[in-house]
Formats: sequence, structure tokens, C-alpha cells
Amino acid sequence: MTRVYNFSAGPAALPIDVLETIRADIPDWQGTGMSVMEVSHRGKEFVELAARCESNLRELLAVPDNYSVLWMQGGATLQMAMAPLNLAARGDTVDYVQTGSWGKKAAGEARKFCTVNLAADAADTNFTTIPDPSTWQRSDDAVYLHMTSNETIAGVEFHFLPDGDVPLVADMSSTILSRPIDVSRFGVIYAGAQKNIGPAGITLVIVRNDLLEPAREDLPHLMMWKSYAESDSMTNTPPTFAWYVADLVIQRLLSNGGLEAMAEINRRKSSKLYAAIDASDFYNNPVSEDCRSWMNVPFVLADSSLDALFLEEAHAAGLTNLKGHRSVGGMRASIYNAVPEEAVDALIEFMAAFEGKNG
Ligand SMILES: *Cc1c(COP(=O)(O)O)cnc(C)c1O
Repeated sequence: MTRVYNFSAGPAALPIDVLETIRADIPDWQGTGMSVMEVSHRGKEFVELAARCESNLRELLAVPDNYSVLWMQGGATLQMAMAPLNLAARGDTVDYVQTGSWGKKAAGEARKFCTVNLAADAADTNFTTIPDPSTWQRSDDAVYLHMTSNETIAGVEFHFLPDGDVPLVADMSSTILSRPIDVSRFGVIYAGAQKNIGPAGITLVIVRNDLLEPAREDLPHLMMWKSYAESDSMTNTPPTFAWYVADLVIQRLLSNGGLEAMAEINRRKSSKLYAAIDASDFYNNPVSEDCRSWMNVPFVLADSSLDALFLEEAHAAGLTNLKGHRSVGGMRASIYNAVPEEAVDALIEFMAAFEGKNG
């Protein structure tokens, strides 16, 4: 078996020990004589899994008691619609801080249901900055403020939290579980699983309980957070296999020292990669230093005619999925929790050797 160093932006790398547990579990999960994919979500074993997963996640993220932990389908993209639908009545105003493509998508969805005020927009710097909060044009009557904690494509991450009384709604798809966060500062947190939590197909939503009551009455059952809160996320058949894998990832994080330990590793991984890029004229990262992402590190080669060769040789060296998003070009190394520090070291070494040959 050969495992590569996988820098995919998502679906992304999973820890090898989790994959090995899955392989061992498949034919006979928990002595049921069935795989986890074949059992009822209402059976004793799966109900236990769901309860353990919630309590472990609450411990890991220090989720306060007045918040609900919900598991859903539809990805972060569905939450871009569910947030305005659950929080705002038609005609209400909502504030969006647009620091990249995902935030732009989120604002676009909200515009279908309510009035969107773009409190800040970093499009004029090609999404390489986060505008200073003192320049934001926030509305007086906004029902909430939406932010994208980490913009996966441009590699732009908030390293501060906005102030204010309105609930903060955050898309944390590509940063959740990478470090401790203060959940009490948020109204709603949502994240597709396929970056740091598990496989694609399940979505984590954390909602402050006073925000569960939908702001409008015409919502389908499956588009109300409240339905999930009232049914332990078993409103209908949940994505059981993805949930099972998320549970394993969360258990592993807890037993490896929790999010403080993860943050330490992630800080180290990203800072050494940025240091290598900054030390060279051959590579460049355009993002302002105060908002560089710990998770997604885009970089371009000074001579873009070498891009294809870079990717080909990186692939041959066991470093895969480094091609940048088409809107940014160049390369992007996504270095989520499950990408080991050795992978970053190997990438830095490869980059230096490639520069030595071609610079
Ligand atoms: C990946 C990603 C999404 C899209 O998630 P889906 O689960 O595919 O809907 C949205 N926002 C951010 C920040 C992402 O990284």
C-alpha cells in the first residue's frame, strides 16, 4: 500500500488510523454482525454513537449548554440558505462580510430571501485582505452578521472576531476543529464535514437555542434547524456512515490532546510553509500577513509557465492535489488537521529542490 501526501482542499485527507479502524469495523460493527451502513439509525448501537459523538464534540469545542449541536445533509451550501430562512423574515436586513468566493455565495443565497447589506467586501483586493472592522458599514437593524471564518479558495482567515450585539453567523467549513474557539461569541456556526470533520455528506451546525425558532412559517420540515434539535438530528434517515466516521475523527482529536494540541501543530505547519514561500522570490503568497489561513496556503510561481512541471514532479514525489483553484491559479496546499507535519516538511523540501533546478 502506498499513501500519498494529500493536499486536497476537500474532500480532504483523513487520519490513517481512522481509515484503518473503518476497515476493521466494516464486516462486523460493534458485534452486530453487520456494517454500520446496514443498521438502523434508531437501533441501540447507532443511538449510542450519536450521543457519544455529540458529547465528545461538546467537550472538544467547549460548546455551552444553551447551544444545540445538529447534524444535517446538504453541506455548507444548504446552510447558506438555511441561515437567512431560519433567522430572517422576508424584508429583514442582514449584514454580510464578503472576504472571498464562499462569502459571496452565502450573500447571494441570502439575497433571495431578505435584504443583504454588504458591510464589507474585499473583492477590490482580489480577496487578499480582510477590511478593518472600523471601515465596515453595518446596518442598525441587521438581524445577524455573516462571516466566512476561513475562505478556502483565497486562503484568507479571520484571526479576530467582530464585536456587536447581533448574532454572528459563521461558515467555518475549512477551519472548524483546527483550534479552540469561543462558541459563546457566535449565534450560529456551520461547517461541511469534508475538510476537518470527516467525509462528505454530513454537515455540522451549532445553534444558540434562542435562535432555533424559525423566523418564518413556510419552511419545509427539513429546512428548519428546530426539527433537527427536537429529534436529535434524526428528523429523517441521517447519513449514518459519514456520522460514524466523524465520530471516530472527534474521538481521535480528544484522545490526542484536544484542540489546543491541534492548534499548536497547525500553527507550526502553516508558519513554516509561509516562511519558506516568503524566503523565496520564486514563490509568492499574495495574502496580507494578518489574515493568512492556517488551513489553505495558496502560492504562485513567479514563472507560471512552470506550473504544469511543478505539479507533475510534485505528483511523482507523492505530493498530490496541489493545483490551485481556477479563480486564483498557481498552487494551493490545503494542510488540514489530518495532513501530517511530515507532509508539509516534504512539500517545503520539494519546493526548494524544484526552485534549485528551475530558478
Ligand atoms: C467547502 C466549503 C463550502 C462548500 O461546502 P459544501 O459542503 O460543498 O456545500 C462552503 N464554504 C466553505 C468555507 C468551504 O470551504
